[in-house]
Amino acid sequence: MSPANIPEMLELTTSVQYVKGIGPRLAEVLGAKGIHTVDDLLHYLPFRYEDRVNPRGISELRAGEMATVIAEVRTSGLFRTRRMPIFQMTAGQGRSRLKCIWFNATYLRDRFKPGQLVALYGKVEQGRSGGELQLVQPQFEILGDSSDEAEGGEQKAASSLEVGRIVPIYESAGQGRLTPRWFRRIIHGVLENLSPQLTDPIPAVVRGHLSLISPREALRQVHWPDPGESFQDLQVSRTPAHIRLIFEELFFLELGLELKRREQKAQTGIAFNLDNRAREAIKKILPFHPTAAQKRVLKEIASDMEKPFPMRRLLQGDVGSGKTIVAFEAAIIAMENGYQVALMAPTEILAQQHYFSARRILENAGYRIVLLTGSVEEDRKREIRRHIAQGNAQLIIGTHALIEQKVEFAKLGLVIVDEQHRFGVMQRFKLMKKSADEGTSNGHTGTAAPGRPAEQRSAAAAGEPDVLVMTATPIPRTLALTLYGDLDISILDEMPPGRTPIVTRRISDDRADEVWQFVGKHVAAGHQAYVVYPVIEENEENELKAALQMHKELSKKTFPHLRVELLHGRLSGDQKEDVMRCFQKGEVDILVSTTVIEVGVDVANATVMVIEHAERFGLAQLHQLRGRIGRGAAKSFCILMTGGKISEDGERRLDAMVRTTDGFQIAELDLELRGPGEFFGTRQAGMPSFQVANLIRDRQLLEAAKREAAAVLAGPNEKVPKEEIDRALRHMRTHWQKTYGLVEVG
Ligand code: ADP
Ligand code: MG
Repeated sequence: MSPANIPEMLELTTSVQYVKGIGPRLAEVLGAKGIHTVDDLLHYLPFRYEDRVNPRGISELRAGEMATVIAEVRTSGLFRTRRMPIFQMTAGQGRSRLKCIWFNATYLRDRFKPGQLVALYGKVEQGRSGGELQLVQPQFEILGDSSDEAEGGEQKAASSLEVGRIVPIYESAGQGRLTPRWFRRIIHGVLENLSPQLTDPIPAVVRGHLSLISPREALRQVHWPDPGESFQDLQVSRTPAHIRLIFEELFFLELGLELKRREQKAQTGIAFNLDNRAREAIKKILPFHPTAAQKRVLKEIASDMEKPFPMRRLLQGDVGSGKTIVAFEAAIIAMENGYQVALMAPTEILAQQHYFSARRILENAGYRIVLLTGSVEEDRKREIRRHIAQGNAQLIIGTHALIEQKVEFAKLGLVIVDEQHRFGVMQRFKLMKKSADEGTSNGHTGTAAPGRPAEQRSAAAAGEPDVLVMTATPIPRTLALTLYGDLDISILDEMPPGRTPIVTRRISDDRADEVWQFVGKHVAAGHQAYVVYPVIEENEENELKAALQMHKELSKKTFPHLRVELLHGRLSGDQKEDVMRCFQKGEVDILVSTTVIEVGVDVANATVMVIEHAERFGLAQLHQLRGRIGRGAAKSFCILMTGGKISEDGERRLDAMVRTTDGFQIAELDLELRGPGEFFGTRQAGMPSFQVANLIRDRQLLEAAKREAAAVLAGPNEKVPKEEIDRALRHMRTHWQKTYGLVEVG
């Protein structure tokens, strides 16, 4: 290669505006799609391919199939029917003809000219009159159109990209300005001029394990597959080229997470002493025999706590699996070692509930427990803060405002975040960071509590507090590996004994009378019931009214002789607490509520839950709600009431609820229905956004990526030399921001 050619050569880092045919204006359009560099552009993958090697003969088409046909435009025109304008075009191959129709397509009026070559892709259907086959609403591309090509020479080159091969189909960009055809031409040009030397950032041993092809080859093949490539593999992203690109993306994600884990482990933490005293203390408070799962999980937590680096552990356990007691056990270990524990819940109601159970279970043993939430009076708050700063309070329970308000701890050793599913991942990262900062600032500044014994101060300087996050959302493994890949994970996969499975039924609105009869029967038998209304934020006012209205009706008309109470988000903390306490004590028979009860509330005598407009709730939410019942020995019933038209997804959600109570199965389906970004309720949840990988499709590659990343970071050794690790880490850092998006890391 002559030196004169070098400036023409494109590197992956080259900005797209220097690519021939792009320039600053189009670069801006691409920028809006997140395409800034040649690398980004080459990762703009086709979403499907068309087999134009052997285009189909019109005469061999069959009704019902998807087909690509290349043919010549014969006639076209717009027809107006009574209902809508229909555009019709007839294409031909020799003597065979094929009718194509598009509904409401006035815009196609001047699009086709007789004699043009077109590629058509769509579903073959039997025409209404006389059995003639036709394509309905096909996607099309005019192959021999000279209007959007600049020079004649270029046009020839370009049109050879359109036929006689497997052709990549891209999503258009810039409101249709950048057509699939445009992408084809540009990307083809980029690949021709791409620097032949792309170093592979993946260490050789990993490449070997997965038989990965080189990055340059992968980029070429994924856009312009060789003629022999399996068309089926292409369509499902399973060619060697796809696998290489997907694995690469997942590998660097896992490498980043693994690195983070290692960094956390390298920090100084507190090595709690797990002596007999702590063991005895735990045994003494246990109100029941722990399940095998609870024992195993406690062991995992305790062994983390003993180690001299900070614990970062996620405890996953379906609703009702008994996480609270595990959290209390961990708290005892910290308290027996002379440390304070902060336990944070997502809502005030839950914080209060934890506070009551903590007092019930721990106070007799002499632990000093305080509740610090927003609704506590100012004077009382000040007093509580003083107790915390002086180290009198040992277990501090509150909402996550605890951390945000910079409460000063004398000697914080353990932070427990009862996340349920309310905290997004973003919040979790923030919380963890803050809890860590909190611990550090305690330790290093030592400003709190004059007169604190010196021994305590030096102990406080010993290291960062341990962090235990608890979640009731069963997280499909693929998500856990990506979202929580930096945490160690414990799973409570066993329910406490004596539970009878919940019976779930869906019943249409118009049978409400029967439902209320059923509720009445169970209350008469001494049980309690929940009636839940959806309150969706955008329509909060109306929905709230519906709940209020329903409460009135149920309490005045349907159940005038029963105690029916109302719980919703607009009540003050005190009011909520009152209602909840009465319900807990059995002084309320029926609790009409919005979804504020969805997390954590624990009343074993409540055995019936009626969910109104169940079709409007998300699957995870329905599952959470249902978790409020089935907590005692008596059989429980969940009634999903539906009204009006239900979407297809709604049907699948309701179906899943009736079919199973297994949280993991429900989570898998939820992930499938909503996609990873929505899984946690918001797009801002900090899901990594992938260019080519798809967490649902690519689980196996993700597992492999995690395994390989861990092995690489265990080096350097004879398999992975240091320079390969360094190169991989450099690559990971430069690509980090892109993949992790909003998540703040490090
Ligand atoms: P969650 O995991 O949803 O937070 P909880 O900790 O609230 O679940 O526990 C649910 C219920 O099960 C509580 O009433 C709790 O006292 C009870 N429970 C927990 N562990 C056991 C056990 N090992 N044996 C009997 N009951 C238990
Ligand atoms: Mg709980």
